[in-house]
Amino acid sequence: MVMEETEILIIGGGLSGLYAAYLLSRQKKSFTLLEARPRFGGRILSKEHNSYFSDLGPSWYWPEINPKILQLVQTLRLEGFQQFENGLGRFQYFDGSVASVRGYTTVPASWRISGGMISMVTQLLEYIPEKALRLRHPVCEIRKESSGALVSVGELEKEIQCRFKARKIILAMPPRLAAATILFTPDLSFHLTQAMLGTATWMAGQAKFYALYNDPFWRRHGFSGQAFSQKGPLGEIHDGSADKNGPYGLTGFINIPAAQRNHEEALTEAILSQIEAVYGKPADQPVLFYYQDWAREPYTATQFDQPPMREHPDYHPPAGQTAIWDGVLHFAGSETADQYGGYLEGALSSAQRAVMNLSKY
Ligand SMILES: Cc1cc2nc3c(=O)[nH]c(=O)nc-3n(C[C@H](O)[C@H](O)[C@H](O)COP(=O)(O)OP(=O)(O)OC[C@H]3O[C@@H](n4cnc5c(N)ncnc54)[C@H](O)[C@@H]3O)c2cc1C
Repeated sequence: MVMEETEILIIGGGLSGLYAAYLLSRQKKSFTLLEARPRFGGRILSKEHNSYFSDLGPSWYWPEINPKILQLVQTLRLEGFQQFENGLGRFQYFDGSVASVRGYTTVPASWRISGGMISMVTQLLEYIPEKALRLRHPVCEIRKESSGALVSVGELEKEIQCRFKARKIILAMPPRLAAATILFTPDLSFHLTQAMLGTATWMAGQAKFYALYNDPFWRRHGFSGQAFSQKGPLGEIHDGSADKNGPYGLTGFINIPAAQRNHEEALTEAILSQIEAVYGKPADQPVLFYYQDWAREPYTATQFDQPPMREHPDYHPPAGQTAIWDGVLHFAGSETADQYGGYLEGALSSAQRAVMNLSKY
């Protein structure tokens, strides 16, 4: 059994974990980051086709209210562009009929990133020493020791892949997922466990589609690409085109509960026929179609995330605690942020807080 020692262990390679790693790298601190999936980014996921990246996780940031993201976009020299919203909207009623409606301009303005949201991840990785990063390292147990903690990677009941001894830990993942999938020894308090399980992971129960076209036919007919539907399966549709020269895209969220999304093929057909009903032909014949069901992702969603979430929760550190075990374990992850929890901005502020607090203990 391989046992490694590290000063600081970051668990999770989503935006919060990578940003914590970036901050620690700038401070020349020694750390290791463990990511369960075979890729970095967590809920940030963009699929590439002919150098265009379709965002299947987050697409937007809001420069007017997301100062940390805005700063990071500038530091990483990424290029932002405003969400296309010019033209009429479309509205589909319960009976399937569709009407044109006044276009809705998002306030504050939504922005996207050229190169997809994943470019934030790939650019952050440029600043993090490769030797500190481990993919395919799912943490299954965190055990407090007299100084620091012992972290096991693998499957508790089957095979432990390796172990890490760390002085400090930054737990950079949704608190609900951590409480549901990691064994903490000694037990976390009942109050803290309930608070973690009760903290819904933002968008974890969602599914998203992306359809790419060579021609922005909806724009040519005066439509912005924005549509809302009472009928479904899509609840909302938005323009998801490249900032210049195509490809052009329609993207949006599926408005039926995860439990009813069992038949991907039938669902894809229903989605394509709905966008055709909304925008006419050739909406049902995209060059490429992506479907991403986050509720089926074991490193994002738990059984508690399967029912639809209608409102954005008011997020805080779990049970008001930013750290436990005398400062050995620090919570990060967007759902532990006091402001903009659940969003990319919250991922950055939670990471910044955890890194700052490491030196307080
Ligand atoms: C469909 C969708 C649309 C969204 N749209 C927007 C948007 O437009 N704007 C916005 O601001 N936000 C949006 N969000 C939310 C945004 O994606 C999140 O706030 C942000 O990505 C959270 O980052 P995080 O690092 O906190 O968590 P995550 O991205 O969930 O990262 C946690 C990481 O931990 C890893 N992990 C899990 N378990 C283990 C384990 N046991 N061991 C090791 N690693 C583990 C995971 O694989 C993952 O990489 C959206 C999310 C989704 C799903």
